[in-house]
This record gives sequence, C-alpha cells and structure tokens, in this order.
Amino acid sequence: MALAAEFSGDTPQVTADVRKVVAGKMESRICLACGKKCPAGEQYRRGLDNAHYNHVLRLIKGGKATEAELMADGKLGPVGKSGPRSESSLGEYDSRQPFSVVQPTLEEDSKQIRDDLAKVLEKKSRKSQA
Ligand SMILES: [Zn+2]
Repeated sequence: MALAAEFSGDTPQVTADVRKVVAGKMESRICLACGKKCPAGEQYRRGLDNAHYNHVLRLIKGGKATEAELMADGKLGPVGKSGPRSESSLGEYDSRQPFSVVQPTLEEDSKQIRDDLAKVLEKKSRKSQA
C-alpha cells in the first residue's frame, strides 16, 4: 500500500537496542519513565506504572508526542498480546513494523477521504453547470 510506504519514512523506528532495554525493564516491571519498580498488584501497562501510563496517554492525545516517537525513545513499551488493538486494516503495516502505530495511518486515511470527496464534489458541480 503506497500510503503506508510513504509514511514509514517519517515514523521513528524502534531500534534493536531500545527494544532489548524496554523488554528487560518490562520483565522486571520497571517503569520506563521513572525507573521505579512497579509493585505486584499495581497497574503496569506498556512498560509504565499507572501514573506515567496516564501521563503518556495525555501527551499523545494532546499532540505533544506520537506513540511511535515515544516507543522509539524507549518511553513506551509494545502493545501486549492482550492489548485492545487489532484493527485488521493495519495488518500490512504491522507486518513491517514490530509494533502497531495507529495514529498516522488513520490521519492519512482521512486526508485521502477528504481529497476524494473534494474531487467528487468538483465533478458534480462542473456537471450541473454544463
Ligand atoms: Zn513511573
């Protein structure tokens, strides 16, 4: 798919080194943000304790950072097997990327839809004038 290929150039890659460090920390339930061990029984998601997971979510939602950037930076772990995301449309993208990066693809898709819509509307108005 051309869109995904275009986008991979801008997407920060998670290097093998970062992946190894993140995996090691996640195994010991170390928070990737503050380096503290997350006690058993407390929420530990994507390599972050509850406070920092929420903090990272706010950064992403506020447009201050992207999921891909944070993951490339080793500040966010990969989606676990039990993770909520399994959009089938991202299958191709996922096979080249070790982690699913949802946001940019969705943005690009909606841009494409807007462009298509604009073309259709343009055609229509031209027809009605003729
Ligand atoms: Zn923390």
